[in-house]
Amino acid sequence: MASPSIGVFALQGDFREHLHALSELGVDAVAVRRPEELARCDALVIPGGESTTMYKLARTFELFEPLVDRIGAGMPTFGTCAGMIMLADRIVDGIVGQETLGGLDITVRRNAFGRQVDSFEGNISFDGFAEPVHAVFIRAPWVEQVTDGVEVLAAIDEGPAAGRIVAVRQDNVMATSFHPEVGNDLRIHEYFVDYVRQS
Ligand code: GLN
Repeated sequence: MASPSIGVFALQGDFREHLHALSELGVDAVAVRRPEELARCDALVIPGGESTTMYKLARTFELFEPLVDRIGAGMPTFGTCAGMIMLADRIVDGIVGQETLGGLDITVRRNAFGRQVDSFEGNISFDGFAEPVHAVFIRAPWVEQVTDGVEVLAAIDEGPAAGRIVAVRQDNVMATSFHPEVGNDLRIHEYFVDYVRQS
């Protein structure tokens, strides 16, 4: 796909930052709030924000089922933080009745790093990158469990959470528990855009 349209789920969360990052990479970046907008996109980003609000709004705006269908049909999809929770098949510490779109055969723990360390930043190695990524975590989930088909792209290097998985990919779906849309490092968006262009 030479010049793909990449949608960003825009009912909630820091979608503007993702739209900006994608535009910087020369991609046609589109805010998605309605099924017709999703239908015009070749790929999708689900931003950071609040997953409990996201799934309710996705239901209200009748985006939930179309999203499940497109992701299941192989649309390249990238979620950050709350977006990772939305893409996980299973969650721990969700609210009662919290639904996810699924797509990643993983279990994600919401607000996993604990309330004392609500937000923090740190350098982590990311699969295939020569230099580490400066990752920003905000009430972030971690990946508690992965199955065989899931590729681990990054884990916490040191400290009390060392070894915790914070970036994964399975087929057409990838996710990070941190926010590459915050700051000026476009490498993770570029990684996704390269994949979209190849598909
Ligand atoms: N804790 C939020 C949730 O459960 C995610 C936080 C974020 O996206 N920065 O959805």
